[in-house]
Amino acid sequence: MLAAGPAFIVLLLGALTLDGVLRTRDSRVLVDRTRNVIHYAGATLSTLQDAETGQRGYVLTGDTAYLAPYENAVATLRADTSELRVTMSGEPEQQARLDSTDRLIQSKMRELGQTVALRTDVGTAEAVKLVATNRGKLAMDTIRSLLGHIDSSAQATLVQREAAESERGQVVTVTLIAGTLAAVLLALFSNMALMRYGYAQEKLARDLDISNSQLNEQAMELELQAQQLQEQAAELEAQAEDLESANRDLTREMKVSEAARSVADTANRAKSEFLAVMSHELRTPLNAIAGYAQLMQMGVPEPVPAVHQDYIMRIQASQRHLLGLINAVLNFARTEAGAVSYDMHDVPVGALLGTIEPLIAPQMAARGHHYECVPCDRALVARADTDKVAQILLNLVSNAIKFTPQGGEITLSAEAVPGASNAPMVVMRVHDTGPGIPPEKLNAIFDPFVQVETGLSRSTDGAGLGLAISRNLAQGMSGDLTVESEVGAGSTFSLWLPLATVAGD
Ligand code: ADP
Repeated sequence: MLAAGPAFIVLLLGALTLDGVLRTRDSRVLVDRTRNVIHYAGATLSTLQDAETGQRGYVLTGDTAYLAPYENAVATLRADTSELRVTMSGEPEQQARLDSTDRLIQSKMRELGQTVALRTDVGTAEAVKLVATNRGKLAMDTIRSLLGHIDSSAQATLVQREAAESERGQVVTVTLIAGTLAAVLLALFSNMALMRYGYAQEKLARDLDISNSQLNEQAMELELQAQQLQEQAAELEAQAEDLESANRDLTREMKVSEAARSVADTANRAKSEFLAVMSHELRTPLNAIAGYAQLMQMGVPEPVPAVHQDYIMRIQASQRHLLGLINAVLNFARTEAGAVSYDMHDVPVGALLGTIEPLIAPQMAARGHHYECVPCDRALVARADTDKVAQILLNLVSNAIKFTPQGGEITLSAEAVPGASNAPMVVMRVHDTGPGIPPEKLNAIFDPFVQVETGLSRSTDGAGLGLAISRNLAQGMSGDLTVESEVGAGSTFSLWLPLATVAGD
């Protein structure tokens, strides 16, 4: 509706212009007609005057040459008056004047005709007499007056009609200019609107293209993500299945290992009980053997030959060895069963190390070893059971003496070091220059009944329980027993024990 407005205005202006043009044309026709009236009124009067002049000239002179205007008037006056009648149609007042004028003209022409006839037929005097009647002059004056009225009325009409024509022309010009301007504006407006519409359409198309491609990209991305999600879901499902099956396996294995552990615990307890019972049962007859051997040695009830004395000594040595083995088994069984009690207190390390030498001096001398106890900080104090620490150190030094070839070096030392969990520890080291222990055996030697040299090559005795017992005891005191060794260079056994703290004092 809004867009149709300017077009309607242009159409209206066009219609107004057309109407104005038509009206102007009508006005022009009327103006022309009025000018014709003026022209023919003037022409009629002039023709009539010429006819009268010619008549008078002929009357006076008798020269027929004067009759030419009269004869011309006879021919043209009728045409002129009928022309006037046509051009004044629609104007009753003017028609009435014309009717009167026409009658007078007829009368005047008859008078002229009579005058000419009298001159020709009778003579000048008769003709002049007729003229002198003033009948002709009167008619002529009236005709002049009527035609003057017709002319002045036509002049007035002409002025009006020309003004109307000019007014209509102006209206047409104005409406034409307005219409043209409106058309130009409409064209501009339409052009701009079209251009704007075109731009908008183009922009819309571009935007649509862009959003279309964005949508496409997003759709592709979504598809990709959906695929990835599907893959991940499948992977997760597979992982969940794996986890479930691993869980089932673990549960099964846990049940199996729990059962195995309870079986092992039962077996361990049975083993310890068995070893304790057996050791006790073995020690009773061994004591009897020792007692009777001693009686025989003492010659009760009677002395034995010298050769038997030697046998008795061998029996006693074997009995002692066996008793030692049984005691070791019994100790191990006790430590394994957790049946050992620890009397924990602060142990001054330097003093404790000093008690070892007197106990191993004879064996040391027998093997020709050099023994050194490195003096340590007097303030070094461990939190431990003195007897158990002495037992462990004796076992370690005894092993060093036993496994180091003649003339070796055995060193005992101690120091404070930060422990594995940053708790300060005391470490006591027994170092020897013996054969060393192969790396693959370093862990195994702490297991019960494990000896590096077995069979015929074995030159020392023992049950392979010393280190197992010692490590159990060390761990029982919140410490540990470790070894570093190099084959051919020697071994260092380290006994780790908690450092006594001020709070523990
Ligand atoms: P045993 O001394 O009765 O054999 P242990 O448990 O004390 O049992 O020692 C286990 C094994 O560790 C020994 O048989 C020996 O092979 C090895 N061993 C222990 N101490 C040393 C050492 N200082 N030097 C070399 N080998 C050693």
